[in-house]
Amino acid sequence: MQPDHAADTAPLFETINVSKSFGVFRAISNVSFRVSDGEFVSIVGPNGAGKTTLVNVVTGLLRPTAGAVRFLGRDIAGIGPVELARLGMSRTFQLVNIFPALTVRETLAVAVASRLRRVGNPFRSLGRDDALQADVERVAEVLGLRARLETVALALSQGEKKLLDIASAFALNPVVILLDEPTSGVSTGDKHAIMGVLVAAAKAAGVRAIVQVEHDMDLVERYSHRIVALQEGTVLADMPPDAFFKDPAMIAAVAGTRPQTQRKPH
Ligand code: ADP
Ligand code: MG
Repeated sequence: MQPDHAADTAPLFETINVSKSFGVFRAISNVSFRVSDGEFVSIVGPNGAGKTTLVNVVTGLLRPTAGAVRFLGRDIAGIGPVELARLGMSRTFQLVNIFPALTVRETLAVAVASRLRRVGNPFRSLGRDDALQADVERVAEVLGLRARLETVALALSQGEKKLLDIASAFALNPVVILLDEPTSGVSTGDKHAIMGVLVAAAKAAGVRAIVQVEHDMDLVERYSHRIVALQEGTVLADMPPDAFFKDPAMIAAVAGTRPQTQRKPH
């Protein structure tokens, strides 16, 4: 811990000089990033900047090539998302990965079962597990999906699919939640509705920090306490939204409009 940080401001998680290479290509480079209790942090940057790679390293899906990743004081580099979820970090993915043929109830039952370590139980027995079903209904309620419990995921609107993905992450009772583009592919009105539900749900569920990758600058400005801007794999800025949005260079860099910036493939 840094000497200038009191114990009660110790970060929930942090990366320390983390780099991740794919072959000879370095996707992120010397990224130091910390998130503390109560924070809502947005990671922004153009396509290819390394946002998803950073989330994948922080959530243990990828082992960093160099540097340390800590969660609640533990070194968690590369421990894997399943174990990390058990410790209290859960995430959603850039592309929603829900099973189209499962109902909302069944989808959430699988997530709750994994938390309760009932993964070995036959799928059909989950429907008869009263404690598990009560938890499924609680999570559905908090994420505004109660009326959709018996609907198959395929029949949900795009916004509801996003909420189901977020609900699955909440079903793990996380301490921290990371969302990779939680509102991509939905209309502007739906984006605000999703963020409103997400923030209220986090509060109700006792989630201690939210980190999101987000392209919509209206949402970033409205909901974040802090913005971490990545550019070509390095941290360009780490500041509150008011300072960020006052700086035209920041806005241009994040939008990827600087003429000298080479756009990389997504
Ligand atoms: P962002 O989420 O900011 O769009 P990513 O983290 O997905 O960016 O990617 C950062 C860079 O790393 C991109 O140039 C991408 O092509 C590259 N990259 C990401 N994942 C891999 C991988 N598994 N193998 C090779 N290159 C990758
Ligand atoms: Mg990405």
